Amino acid sequence: MKTSGEHRGGWAALTLCALGILGSAPPGKAAESGAEVADGATLARIRDAAMSQDWAFRRLGELTDRIGPRLSGSPQLDAAVAQVAAAMRTLGAEVSLQPVKVPHWVRGAEQGELVDFPGRPAGVTQQLHLTALGGSGATPAAGLTARVIAVHDFEELQARAAEVRGNIVAFDSRFDQRLADNGRAGDAYGQAGQYRFGGPARAAALGAVAVLVRSIGGADYRLPHTGATVWRDGQTAIPAAALAAEDSDLIMRLAAAGPVVLKLVLTPRTLPDADSSNVIADWRGRERPDEVVIVSGHLDSWDLATGATDDGVGVMAAAAVIEVLRQLDLHPRRTIRFVGWTNEENGGRGGQAYFASVAGSMARQTAAIESDEGAGRSLGLNAAITAESEQTLKPVLDALRTIGATALSRTQGEVGADIFPLQEAGVPGFAPLVDARHYFDYHHTAADTLDKVNPVDMNTQVATMAVLAYYLAELPTPLPQLAAAARRR
Ligand SMILES: [Zn+2]
Repeated sequence: MKTSGEHRGGWAALTLCALGILGSAPPGKAAESGAEVADGATLARIRDAAMSQDWAFRRLGELTDRIGPRLSGSPQLDAAVAQVAAAMRTLGAEVSLQPVKVPHWVRGAEQGELVDFPGRPAGVTQQLHLTALGGSGATPAAGLTARVIAVHDFEELQARAAEVRGNIVAFDSRFDQRLADNGRAGDAYGQAGQYRFGGPARAAALGAVAVLVRSIGGADYRLPHTGATVWRDGQTAIPAAALAAEDSDLIMRLAAAGPVVLKLVLTPRTLPDADSSNVIADWRGRERPDEVVIVSGHLDSWDLATGATDDGVGVMAAAAVIEVLRQLDLHPRRTIRFVGWTNEENGGRGGQAYFASVAGSMARQTAAIESDEGAGRSLGLNAAITAESEQTLKPVLDALRTIGATALSRTQGEVGADIFPLQEAGVPGFAPLVDARHYFDYHHTAADTLDKVNPVDMNTQVATMAVLAYYLAELPTPLPQLAAAARRR
């Protein structure tokens, strides 16, 4: 369906003009008035429409309740691609599917049992709560049994390197909830996360036969938190699992008293790469349709739960930006491009494929927004932009004042995994600055389900992205790209 031009001057716009909401420019005039920026009244209407719609939460319910977990290679991810593409077509967006080859890793049996430890009464063993990390190798079907080398960090691993060969390394690095409580959840995730991302590869390089990693999370409900681990080039994947925090504590206590022996069964499989797609839905710009502002989230999720907060909430909040613009019949200068990324969790291939497809026309990628920090309420913007751009964004934060989303946190770092390749090429990157204090309580666990999402909080993310995307798409001149800005200095 064509969405530009012909119906912009229709009854809806006239009615809004009659109400004095659109200001004095008659419909269709904006094309000639190249220097105007989005006015505050329009931004306020976008905010209010975002806060009062329930499209986003209803779509999230359909994604999580009807489809469920959406790991790359699964039929559920295919279903999610189809469901979201259909929803975007219904809104009148121009939808295309961008083919992407994705890794295909499938969980198998998983069981851990402490079969010997200091002071063990005869006949007693201890069951562990664990789950394989994405990319984990497999034990023999009957499992393997080995001694546990329990360490807190990489320094300790290095000091005990001579003991590692033939044994199981257990990393016990604690998620620092105090950081998360103080608005630094991402830092806490990065600090503990390095042991999940890179610990198994380091231990394997020292000859370990398997690795356990303390779960990265802030709440202790004896839930293991899965997530991807990364092997070195040419390295054979060994079995690697996340342990529930309580079980990691147990192993550390027992290991401090003497040798601990673990029997581990993990039988995941890595299959040939599978076919998937990014869902791209364009809300066509009225003046410069070739220039785009991306709003996005990722469609895939881990397999233990329904991925409601990671990243169902983000992808549906981003999709709802188009619904809000449809409701208000607003077509900014540039195209607003929704992208539902595939394969964020265990490969990042969706973001990479998109980047490769636009590498020759980076100037037309004027900004990229991604929501992937959970379901918390928006406090403002996380922005990878030049210092001078801060002032340009003031009207956005002014418009978001009534919902309390007024903070602007400027960063040189990654604001979204899927848009990071664009960011690195200089494209201004944004994310809602989300209250993530409790995001890691359920992150990548079996408890990441719809009940964890507050629809009002979700709508603050819709409002943040809708106001920002519209404003950016309406700017007479796009924000400066970062690489270009750096070259001028
Ligand atoms: Zn995510």
